[in-house]
Amino acid sequence: MVDLNGGTIGRVASDTIYIDINAAGYGWFIDETPLDHSEFRYDRKLSLIALPGSEAEGLIDLWTVIRHELGHFLGYEHEENGVMEATLDLGVRNLPDWNADADDFFASVKDELELLLF
Ligand SMILES: [Zn+2]
Repeated sequence: MVDLNGGTIGRVASDTIYIDINAAGYGWFIDETPLDHSEFRYDRKLSLIALPGSEAEGLIDLWTVIRHELGHFLGYEHEENGVMEATLDLGVRNLPDWNADADDFFASVKDELELLLF
């Protein structure tokens, strides 16, 4: 992780994904169980919101940011809904709308990504 400028929480440059060290001061929600979304409920299509009192409340969801930046890495642009939204509110998890190929890609880069982040 690096200390990015101002309100920037993640960025892609050349072949590297940079994640801000403290989520622009808000702090990260680092989910131990990222597949079950148990800290969230559905808010709208492709978007979850933290349950009151959950660990995710009031923090930036690292899971969403990593997938957003990986989306850029794959060539996705910003979209109105889902994980490629240009901004991310506290306690919100946005879900990807892309196909299984991208999921395979994410699975394949997972080990490498952990090296970049920590
Ligand atoms: Zn972006």
